[in-house]
Amino acid sequence: MRNVSSLALISLLGALLPVTLTACATEEDEDTALFESAFEDNAGGKEDGGCSGVVVPDRSGFGKHVALTFDDGPNPATTPKVIEILKRHHAPATFFNNGSRYAAAGAKELAARIAADPDYILANHSQHHLNLAEQTAAKVATEVDGTDALIRAAGETPKYFRFPFGSANCSAKTAVQDRGYIVTGWHIDSADWCFAAGGGTCKKSTFRYVPDEMRNDMQGYVMSQVRSTNGGIILFHDIHQSTADHLDAILTAMEHDGFSFVRLDDTTVFPKLHGKAPATTKFIGDTCTTNADCNFTGGHCHAAGFCTQACAGTCPDASGKAPTFCIADEAMANTGMCVSKPTTGNGECHAIPNTENRIEARFIGTSSSSPASANVCAPL
Ligand SMILES: [Zn+2]
Repeated sequence: MRNVSSLALISLLGALLPVTLTACATEEDEDTALFESAFEDNAGGKEDGGCSGVVVPDRSGFGKHVALTFDDGPNPATTPKVIEILKRHHAPATFFNNGSRYAAAGAKELAARIAADPDYILANHSQHHLNLAEQTAAKVATEVDGTDALIRAAGETPKYFRFPFGSANCSAKTAVQDRGYIVTGWHIDSADWCFAAGGGTCKKSTFRYVPDEMRNDMQGYVMSQVRSTNGGIILFHDIHQSTADHLDAILTAMEHDGFSFVRLDDTTVFPKLHGKAPATTKFIGDTCTTNADCNFTGGHCHAAGFCTQACAGTCPDASGKAPTFCIADEAMANTGMCVSKPTTGNGECHAIPNTENRIEARFIGTSSSSPASANVCAPL
């Protein structure tokens, strides 16, 4: 079965991309350079992404939410298997299609099926998967518009565009945005293209950023990446049989780790991508009514009505917020809690409910902090 699919894929590629087969080494080298540069753009990720086609303006705060994306399809030999696995996991996904693929038998029907399914978003990945940073303005336009028309014919109004290899420049990015598209990069490259190219081994010469101990372990690599970003947008390719073969285990591992799957158009997880301001994050000393209000790591709502977190010796500070101090938690023995110091910003504690400005000793607990005391906003 697997051989049949591989043969079908090879003949499909042969029909669509004869250049790939005759100039394999050159194409692979270029893919390597472009994907490595996309990885580096993300590692150094500027907040607003600038003219990058890969940097997503939302850089953190994903709360273990993952948006799955699949590029370069549709491929009638492998995409249906990917969809079957997504259904099993009740996972929404976005498919960034190349219009040139629609010539294959069954591909248009597959695109229409994706467009009709409310779990999926059909998105534009250009017509021929060229490096659009190196094309003329006229070529960029036809590459975008060709696939735009095909997606509309499939029954969906396209909203998201992803540059092939995440490679863009300012004029190409502007051209895409002027057509009403949201340029969509990724946070995590699954490197499935690299594992596929090496028959299950991602070679260092193909993609150097996969650690050596994970060169035969796509699942391990994907999990290490998704843990390091705590979620975000992840890039796969639904054209590879090996991606379809590993997807079930990868999604299961993510679920086991507490990750859940969200749509790309989830504006609470990706607000900046959609031009919205992120929801303000509460911090120690901010007012609250429930624990959920205190949406920072370790945060919970003190009975007095302000956000706090457990501590021993020291507490974190945040820019734009009052400095903090660790004092004994009167409600729990041998436990410290973080409180704000009085500032003009919190009205010398008057803005923090049920607290007063008084001197308290530092709670040291098991820490190596030195004894100290400070004026703090302590519960009444
Ligand atoms: Zn692609």
